[in-house]
Amino acid sequence: LAQLEGRPLSLVRFPEGAAKGRFFQKHIHGTVPDNIAEIDIKEKNEVQKYMIVHSTEGLLDLVQMGAFELHNWNCHEQDVEHPDQFIIDLDPGPGVSWEQIKKSALEVKEVLEHFKLKSFIKTSGGKGLHIHVPIAKLYTWEQIRNFTKALAQLMEDQYPNKYVSTMSKKIRKNKIFVDYLRNGRGSTAVTPYSLRAANQSAAALPIGWNELKNLKSANQFTIEKALAYLKKRKVDPWKGYNTIKQKLPISEGAF
Ligand code: ATP
Ligand code: MN
Repeated sequence: LAQLEGRPLSLVRFPEGAAKGRFFQKHIHGTVPDNIAEIDIKEKNEVQKYMIVHSTEGLLDLVQMGAFELHNWNCHEQDVEHPDQFIIDLDPGPGVSWEQIKKSALEVKEVLEHFKLKSFIKTSGGKGLHIHVPIAKLYTWEQIRNFTKALAQLMEDQYPNKYVSTMSKKIRKNKIFVDYLRNGRGSTAVTPYSLRAANQSAAALPIGWNELKNLKSANQFTIEKALAYLKKRKVDPWKGYNTIKQKLPISEGAF
């Protein structure tokens, strides 16, 4: 809820159960349950309504709607034009080992630290890892896209045989696509703690950077394993995430 609250949502819904197929819902057409709020957001040509949740009751309404995967924008309803986080998504191409993916996450962390940015990591519940960076609501979508694009290019320049930063080269043998593209206005990423609608229903699970070395895969936290892990967990590795408002080296003219 802390990660979802007040953020425009997209849902992967299975309204008639797993066997009857899924659909990806962004806009509201018609009515939504009582505990789900609406927000009007201007898109290219028209204004669209998006779902917003503020409470556990709202989350339960999503469940009732057959929303299995929860995805959200990188902004809060209070200020839709200024994102409060960005995400670097590491997408392994064919031939990339799990150890390489984990090492690449640490390399992203290092590059971010170079810019004095603290980052947080989660499994995607699929194949890769997502690195989240909470930021101050001071920048436009365009500035964030330019900044994250520069980060991805920096990774590729630094380690050209390991990374690609362009969509057209996304699927490259033995390389990791540093996907910065989900940082645009209207883009979404899977919400931390959401389950994924795939084999075994793995969760997109926040972990501590210190837990990365023992991570076995991006989808190891199946629903049972995620629950067992959370039951044992003593400290939230993302504690304070929503209070961290980091500044980017944008005003200094770098981006
Ligand atoms: P992996 O680690 O396997 O790459 P992932 O979550 O990074 O997992 P995808 O599952 O491929 O990657 O999700 C792609 C992105 O596209 C997600 O951020 C999601 O919000 C968005 N998305 C998924 N389905 C749709 C759709 N039908 N229409 C628009 N956007 C979608
Ligand atoms: Mn991915």
